[in-house]
Amino acid sequence: MKNKNTVLLFDLDHTLYPRETGILQRIDRNICDFLAGYFKISAEEAEELRRGFYRQYGLSLTGLIKEYPRFDVKGYLKHVYDFDIEKMLKPAEKLKRILLSIPNPKYIFTNGLESYASRILKALNVSKCFRKIYGIEFMNFNCKPSAEAFLKVAEDIGRETGDFIMIDDLPQNLLTAKNLNMKTILVGKEQKETYIDETIKDIMEIPGALQRLGGQRKKRQQS
Ligand SMILES: [Mg+2]
Repeated sequence: MKNKNTVLLFDLDHTLYPRETGILQRIDRNICDFLAGYFKISAEEAEELRRGFYRQYGLSLTGLIKEYPRFDVKGYLKHVYDFDIEKMLKPAEKLKRILLSIPNPKYIFTNGLESYASRILKALNVSKCFRKIYGIEFMNFNCKPSAEAFLKVAEDIGRETGDFIMIDDLPQNLLTAKNLNMKTILVGKEQKETYIDETIKDIMEIPGALQRLGGQRKKRQQS
């Protein structure tokens, strides 16, 4: 990438580690379990509630806080996140080398809690690759894909939104990023919408995507 000052914003879940780890599925199960107990509803109703909150707010906890001001946030967090995340992830040494080889400033921008994000980074052994974690607390639970969340992060970093590249597995987050003049990289799936600048199958392919975005195409080997 030509401009080493361009800021890279990385989503966390299913961007830095793959879906197959089962971490988010486990969290979703824990949420349902908690909601079923808290509201005294069936597992199916709890799942319906969780999905509804997720669709409307991007994060179940945001919906719970907004719709139930006296909701037991502490009990919820303990129930949902108190499991061995560390055993479900392995240190990602190759990813670490790749990230360290990219000189641009790098930040985590996630709809997860900052303490949770920090545990994930630690388990992957990539904490040192990032300057800061922007999680749901920083956004006051007003999370991606809301434009306010992106603007708040850009303001805190002290740069124009046009100086950023957003790397995420969820297209809707990239749509907001693009509307704010950021460049966008989709991780994990093929999708060709105009607001997606680059698509990569796996985060390991990030150097190539950055090179293409920076206009430095790799020279083909002449045979
Ligand atoms: Mg994600």
